[in-house]
Amino acid sequence: MVGAGPTGLTVAGLLARLGVSVTVLDRYPQPYPRPRAVHLDGEAVRVLQRLGVHERFAAISRPATGLRLLDASLRPFATFRRDTGPGRHGHPDANLFDQPDLEAVLREAVGREIGPVRGGVEVTGVDAGGVVTRHTATGRVERIPAAAVLGCDGADSTVRSLIGSRMRELGFTQRWLVVDLRCPDAGGTWGGVDQVCDPRRAATFMHLVGDRYRVEFRMHDGETDAGLAARLPALLAPWFPPGAPTVLRSAGYTFRAQVADRWRAGRVLLVGDAAHLMPPFVGQGLGAGLGDAHNLAWKLATVLAGRADESLLDTYQAERAPHVEATTRTAVRVGRAMTGGNGLLAAVRRPVVGGLLRLPGAEARALSGTTTRHPPGRWVDRRTRRSDLPGTVCPQPFVDVDGRRVRLDDVLGPGFSLLCAAPADGALARRARAVGARTVALAGSGADRVVTDDGTLREWLAGGRAAAVLLRPDRVVMGVTPGR
Ligand SMILES: Cc1cc2nc3c(=O)[nH]c(=O)nc-3n(C[C@H](O)[C@H](O)[C@H](O)COP(=O)(O)OP(=O)(O)OC[C@H]3O[C@@H](n4cnc5c(N)ncnc54)[C@H](O)[C@@H]3O)c2cc1C
Repeated sequence: MVGAGPTGLTVAGLLARLGVSVTVLDRYPQPYPRPRAVHLDGEAVRVLQRLGVHERFAAISRPATGLRLLDASLRPFATFRRDTGPGRHGHPDANLFDQPDLEAVLREAVGREIGPVRGGVEVTGVDAGGVVTRHTATGRVERIPAAAVLGCDGADSTVRSLIGSRMRELGFTQRWLVVDLRCPDAGGTWGGVDQVCDPRRAATFMHLVGDRYRVEFRMHDGETDAGLAARLPALLAPWFPPGAPTVLRSAGYTFRAQVADRWRAGRVLLVGDAAHLMPPFVGQGLGAGLGDAHNLAWKLATVLAGRADESLLDTYQAERAPHVEATTRTAVRVGRAMTGGNGLLAAVRRPVVGGLLRLPGAEARALSGTTTRHPPGRWVDRRTRRSDLPGTVCPQPFVDVDGRRVRLDDVLGPGFSLLCAAPADGALARRARAVGARTVALAGSGADRVVTDDGTLREWLAGGRAAAVLLRPDRVVMGVTPGR
């Protein structure tokens, strides 16, 4: 694993849980301290649940209560309230946190499974047999053998360059100043995110957790990080009492929209920011990396164990790239609507922004219609035309099992599973046996587990005209038995 960012740590933890021996290398001895992600959706937290860190994530995050759009005078012109309870994926749909806190949780949890990250080790070469590294303190060169190499090395990925992959531009570049602050009391925030839709100075303000806040300001051509940072007291004045906030970090970022043209060369694969970059307006960049990790870990583990041929690895980019590109295009549309144009155009766009914007109540809408269904193939059987479930992700309600109330994934287990409202037909049952699926039934007997839920799963199956579904380890529907 090249890179101990959140993506690298997550895929390392998932692989370790599937019995794969993993080493994580990073050029820095300590986690990256600059301000970055502050939001994860429920689907991303579901991936953290696979690592067993969702409760610790809950302790360092809080559900967001909604989104307000403000005009240039900071008057709200639209408010979108967000339910803070568990959503479709069994966790709140919008969660605010501070990325270094998440990285600390991941380092500790993953470290317990695979040992500590090897920091101060820079990867300079890669081939089918492993990586070449340089110890940053001593300059010593070392070759580390590996059966597979995952480039989780972020936006300026060395592994990406080494395999000859190039970033494809999706046409968006903006510079923003991102500021993290501590303030004992900012004077009663409402629990959600404020988005200033002012083309002269678009801005975002949000209370994260405890006394932590994030404010972001769009920078204009000719402005420098230092120049805008010097004006922070005036820029922050509307949000905080005078002298109250302490600036913890302030950094200029160029937000880009790019997707790598090639995510794999043999057993060298790109994951997370190494494979794609998106502006943070829908809060999905890191979530996309965790989604990559979830999609890839079981595939790589299966191939390494000799239970599938290498072609399974081809499905990784085929499944993830269309989704990531669609999400990135949504983020670009939202960013442009929020920040672009003066006068009438900006006024017309404002209500549109409301339906799209980053975070609470919003990104579900932002992404509905863009979340792609995985393409058909050996691992997504879409030949049953009556059901449109294959290639989509199963919801995660709470279920009752043996007198306990747990989230569905905890019952489904780490591998494949056959989820049945009625018996599976012969073909699906054979397929399930071949991949060693655990059977989970919504009623009856003879299954490995019988669960009852609040009706979510029956409704989902009935809506997709399915009696039973075979789920892959990443909870994507692989095949169905059609229902009535
Ligand atoms: C201002 C800002 C706000 C954001 N807000 C959100 C948000 O709200 N929600 C969201 O989901 N996402 C957000 N993002 C995006 C999110 O932060 C990134 O997608 C995420 O950090 C990417 O994680 P990663 O593990 O892929 O890469 P990184 O976190 O960049 O980690 C890469 C690691 O690889 C190491 N490395 C690099 N090269 C080498 C090498 N040659 N050898 C060894 N190690 C190497 C680096 O040291 C680093 O530790 C935001 C980003 C920014 C900049």
